[in-house]
Amino acid sequence: MRNIIDRDVDTLRNRLHGSASLPGDKDYDQTRSLWNGDIDNRPALIARCQDAQDVATAIRFGRDRNLELSVRGGGHSFSGASVCDGGLMIDLSQQTTVTTDPAAHRARCGGGTTLAALDAATQQHAQAVPAGTVSHTGVAGLTLGGGFGWLTRKAGLTCDNLLGAEVVTAGGDILTVNAQEHPDMFWAIRGGGGNFGVVTNFEFQTHDVGPEVQIGLFFWSADQGREALRLMNEVGTSMPNDMGALMAGMNAPPAPFVPPAYHFAPGYALLVAGFGSADEHARLFDDMRAVLPPLFELVSPIPYAGLQQLLDDTAPWGALAYEKAHYLEGLSSGVIDVIMKQMPRKTSPVSFTPMFNLGGAYAAVGEDDTAFGGGRSINMVFNITAMAQTADTLQADRVWARRFWQDLIPYATGGAYINFMSEYDESRVRATFGPKYDRLARIKAQYDPDNVFHRGINIKPQP
Ligand code: FAD
Repeated sequence: MRNIIDRDVDTLRNRLHGSASLPGDKDYDQTRSLWNGDIDNRPALIARCQDAQDVATAIRFGRDRNLELSVRGGGHSFSGASVCDGGLMIDLSQQTTVTTDPAAHRARCGGGTTLAALDAATQQHAQAVPAGTVSHTGVAGLTLGGGFGWLTRKAGLTCDNLLGAEVVTAGGDILTVNAQEHPDMFWAIRGGGGNFGVVTNFEFQTHDVGPEVQIGLFFWSADQGREALRLMNEVGTSMPNDMGALMAGMNAPPAPFVPPAYHFAPGYALLVAGFGSADEHARLFDDMRAVLPPLFELVSPIPYAGLQQLLDDTAPWGALAYEKAHYLEGLSSGVIDVIMKQMPRKTSPVSFTPMFNLGGAYAAVGEDDTAFGGGRSINMVFNITAMAQTADTLQADRVWARRFWQDLIPYATGGAYINFMSEYDESRVRATFGPKYDRLARIKAQYDPDNVFHRGINIKPQP
């Protein structure tokens, strides 16, 4: 295999506007790197594609030689689906151009753009595309799978704000995809993942956001856990739609806003982002303090771009990670019992359980308007994130995450967010999409009958 590729690589290089790398080339290791340091896949060949034509060239080159293909956007897939072991990796990291049309509330970006770059461009006009909570994440994988973040309750998922895309199919065709052109594909790429082709350009609707927003971070001790979780659940479900909340069982980080005595203390955190008035924000916190005073807090205005980067250091590149998730109706007393039982059992101080509250604009989108799986009436995405610096600690918390997840099954809706799955489990994927699965499988059969894009959460073609 190696010899065939070595001989052929000049052919590919001559056809690409971008470049191609082999193991040993100077940019090879950097280009194949993933956020999840637990995965060390080594493609036989990397095509660094500058545009849609390059992607079409790479797809044809790989298919002609029976190479497995993978597509790397921002490299944050927990499972490592974007970087194949052997095979041909299509790298989009050079496709990062962002353009905006503030009057029309539109933004376009390339298939390898990070959230940070999209935020930087849209915030020039005090606008934003609703996206995730860690700014080095890729726009592509996040959007194709859904996209939860601070603005979900105010403006929906990232995929709900997608207006169109440029997609290169498994056959090498370059399609313009939107509500009028290839509407079936447009439906499928809003939640169905990277199964249908390589997206080289996204067009989004933007919203007026910032430049300054409000944050409130509250941290309660492990002893206050039961009351804190009850309070967080109440706040998360009753707060106005122009607020977003992320809750977590976690150890307090050694951050400047955490008093040194509480660095690494186990407990429960609530981070609220407010996009309305500072007064509305302050009132919510007055009420919360009266019910359950926290161990420490931070309430402050912050630039929206700063909010988007606030959690970056909690999830650094190269961390070893494993993730499992559920959709829940909320934090019932049964769920709280499981959390109180399992949180003390984790080994790594950086393993944590981030939970997103839903509702608002998320719930207002029609069930069949997008392919997104899981249902618009669920109230919460519950993640169990094992994260560590050594393989042994990760292994201990991988076991912890699986047991925790198992204990929550009686309270879960059955599906899970596909972007928070470290492992592909066909029955979970089918449960996530429910009746949408068969429609996705038919669209897959139309655009990728040979299942070329099969890595990750795979929808199998079904004519
Ligand atoms: P990649 O690894 O590049 O790709 C992920 C998948 O998408 C792969 O299957 C890949 O082949 C496919 N793909 C990538 N680019 C393309 C493309 N252009 N066309 C077609 N297919 C493509 N999710 C949230 O919703 N909200 C969050 O707040 C959030 N925070 C996160 C924080 C961290 C630290 C991490 C690691 C993940 C987070 N996620 C979050 C999950 C995230 O949405 C997924 O991991 C997502 O798949 C990452 O996309 P990517 O482009 O960076 O990853």
